[in-house]
Amino acid sequence: MNYQASQSRYQQMSYRRCGNSGLQLPAISLGLWQNFGHVDLRSTFEQVLHTAFDLGITHFDLANNYGPPPGSAESNFGDIMQGNFGKYRDEMIISTKAGYTMWDGPYGDWGSKKYLVASLNQSLKRMKLDYVDIFYHHRPDPNTSLEETMAALDLIVRQGKALYAGISNYPPDQAQQAFDMLKQLGTPCLIHQPKYSMFVRTPEEGLLDVLGQNKVGCIAFSPLAQGMLTDKYLNGIPDQSRASRNPSLKPDQITPVKLNAIRQLNAIAEQRGQKLAEMAVAWLLRDDRVTSVLIGASKVAHVQDACNALKNINFTAAELSAIDEILKNLD
Ligand code: NDP
Repeated sequence: MNYQASQSRYQQMSYRRCGNSGLQLPAISLGLWQNFGHVDLRSTFEQVLHTAFDLGITHFDLANNYGPPPGSAESNFGDIMQGNFGKYRDEMIISTKAGYTMWDGPYGDWGSKKYLVASLNQSLKRMKLDYVDIFYHHRPDPNTSLEETMAALDLIVRQGKALYAGISNYPPDQAQQAFDMLKQLGTPCLIHQPKYSMFVRTPEEGLLDVLGQNKVGCIAFSPLAQGMLTDKYLNGIPDQSRASRNPSLKPDQITPVKLNAIRQLNAIAEQRGQKLAEMAVAWLLRDDRVTSVLIGASKVAHVQDACNALKNINFTAAELSAIDEILKNLD
């Protein structure tokens, strides 16, 4: 597809410094976990990528296993980068990860140096890139020493295969240990990627404090709770929605209690003149320790909604306490 980026792409997006690093990330980033695999329609996801970049979304987040099938999101992204999109490489921050099951045998999972180095080599080939900007360890490994995993991240950065190192899904105590080790190795941790949304507030139980104290950035994944924090499920489960076609969001997760909360949140969003999706994104950005909100999108309109959130990220004390009250009663 012949693509020329919008001239106005840097006018609406805001950029936030990632911890105390030199890197700024867009307040909204786009993740390719779902909707970018070989099972998906290239014309749609290519348009989603172009729209995102046109709106100032400079950060694209991948992982070795994104698809389906695993690896196909990276391959598809690489194919699109081979076209006109790739000429903007220096305006982009591209991340990938390893940590979940990727290939058979003892070297295709978890956190050994063997797995991380081999996996990143494969990811670079699939994406047809010389380097990624951020390489993450995707989840803690209870059976590999943290020293080994952090040494692998340090090695990868020293080799120039990634510019920065990150961790994902680490609880606060292990995150602190990882930050200390990486600092000592001379490759300070850039960023942590936790699950964080109005429905999953775990990072508020210590992680955000650790990130703030260590001046490490935070990028919140599944900010819309996979689509639940939108108006999509208010009247049942539409065809083609994630809950109707992907086991990562099962219909029985959308409980009557959750639906009730979604309705009440939707009413607050309406009073603010926002869609619920916009308010859910804005709510995460209320905390300046959150560097970026990492959305998923199956349509161009989803990217536009997330970017529209930036028009109002301020909340009154009354709005915040009304939201807290609704979220207190979740199952
Ligand atoms: P979200 O919570 O943003 O959910 C995205 C989904 O919500 C979309 O695919 C779409 O689903 C629906 N949606 C989005 N916007 C709207 C809207 N405005 N109105 C109605 N529905 C909407 O994020 P994801 O769960 O997709 O995760 C985002 C990214 O986070 C991933 O791509 C990945 O990069 C990262 N991630 C990281 C993990 C980790 O372990 N580090 C784990 C999971 C994700 P539908 O298909 O129904 O249209």
